[in-house]
Amino acid sequence: MRLLLVEDDLMIGEAVLDALRVEHYAVDWVRDGVMADTALRSESYDLVLLDLGLPKRDGLDVLRALRARHQTMPVLVATARDAVGDRIAGLDAGADDYVVKPYDTDELLARIRALIRRSAGRAEPVFSHKGVALNPATREASVNGAPVSLSAREWAVLEPLLARPGVVFSRAQLEEKLYGWKDDISSNAVEVYVHGLRKKLGSELIQTVRGLGYVVPRL
Ligand code: CA
Repeated sequence: MRLLLVEDDLMIGEAVLDALRVEHYAVDWVRDGVMADTALRSESYDLVLLDLGLPKRDGLDVLRALRARHQTMPVLVATARDAVGDRIAGLDAGADDYVVKPYDTDELLARIRALIRRSAGRAEPVFSHKGVALNPATREASVNGAPVSLSAREWAVLEPLLARPGVVFSRAQLEEKLYGWKDDISSNAVEVYVHGLRKKLGSELIQTVRGLGYVVPRL
């Protein structure tokens, strides 16, 4: 899953970045409203964590512009503990939820999981399809009830596919789930991880759609 972190405070930003990377999210971090707007126009994210008080362009303004472009990605706004007015303004401008600063890391991660789950059209916390189950909260995977160990990058490729059976993801879309801007991309990385996943989970689960990408079939 790929996240955009918008935070101008260096210490807070670094702490959140570390916490998100430990959970294996691919994260891009920008520190002002103009950079946030540019990133949101050019990249596709599974979630945006948006501070409202930003240099150059206000976070609410960035959020309104995002929604005016009909971009539906989930947005979690970050506000100060006593700033009730900011929370209301954020929700009314198109945010899906808010967190108060200073962050409780566990709460932040749980809200992120919940929003990503909802945006994939699911209410249940564990993905399960054709006997393969993923629990994003515990990062446990299983096949027909037997635990399976997946690498962070195998997980990153499998999670979007299993979350939306029947939806074809291109190689480029899956690469985006793997990396932030500063990471190197080897051209066959997705193929390598799909190969590893097929070995662990069976060859039928992830199917290649020639010329288009990969899909976990609905049935
Ligand atoms: Ca700020």
